[in-house]
Amino acid sequence: MILKTPAIPLRITPYSNTSRVVRWLTPERGRLGTLIKGALRPRGGFLGQYDYFATSELLYYERRKEGLHIARECTMTERRPELRTNWRGGVCASYVTAVADRLTPDDAPSAELFAFLERALDHARFVTERAAEFLLWFELQCCIREGRAPRLECCAACGSPIADGDELGFDVARGGVLHTACRRGGDSAQPVAPDVLALMRAWARAAQPGQAARTRTRPRQRETIGALLGAFLEYHLELPAAPRKAAYFALTAGETLT
Ligand SMILES: [Zn+2]
Repeated sequence: MILKTPAIPLRITPYSNTSRVVRWLTPERGRLGTLIKGALRPRGGFLGQYDYFATSELLYYERRKEGLHIARECTMTERRPELRTNWRGGVCASYVTAVADRLTPDDAPSAELFAFLERALDHARFVTERAAEFLLWFELQCCIREGRAPRLECCAACGSPIADGDELGFDVARGGVLHTACRRGGDSAQPVAPDVLALMRAWARAAQPGQAARTRTRPRQRETIGALLGAFLEYHLELPAAPRKAAYFALTAGETLT
């Protein structure tokens, strides 16, 4: 059977001198692996028709038994060329693709995640400043989409709404903010200032990347939210820390150098 789907490469690996294995994110089937025979042959029809950060229309033969399907044809439909030259955008695109790869199930409908990744990649094309804000927003939205939204409105311990002036901490294991008075002996809550909580709440409510990327933040606020979210992602979504560190390091180092 030949199937047709929009698809974005999550990982491209060599298979032989001229063939590649591509793992894609697709709306209907989640993560999907295809073998691309003759991927590098000039007349193979695949050259330039798929790449990282680009959306393609993929035609493939379904071959469930061997794990890999066989690509028959591929046509790039959204190239996003700015991500080759805008280095900040490229860093963001690499990271959001790596996160999508970790969160996408194999062979299960993932239309919402596919649309979310496309929106994030489209936004990354034109990122020239506030790239860290965009990535922090993206991470927070991933938690929400995975059903692991950090608690930001009510105390994670007593459940009562957070009021102005409450002294608060953020406890990763208990899932969000809690009153300092509600902490138990073993809790390892980090203090959370009202400005940091307000930023996280605003990013949790912002459905579009553009809204979050318009927020001005101070380095201290970014560092605090980055540390809280990093620990939260590792604990609740089991996201590895290495790609995240690499992305934030590249952005920070780049800002210092330029
Ligand atoms: Zn409480």
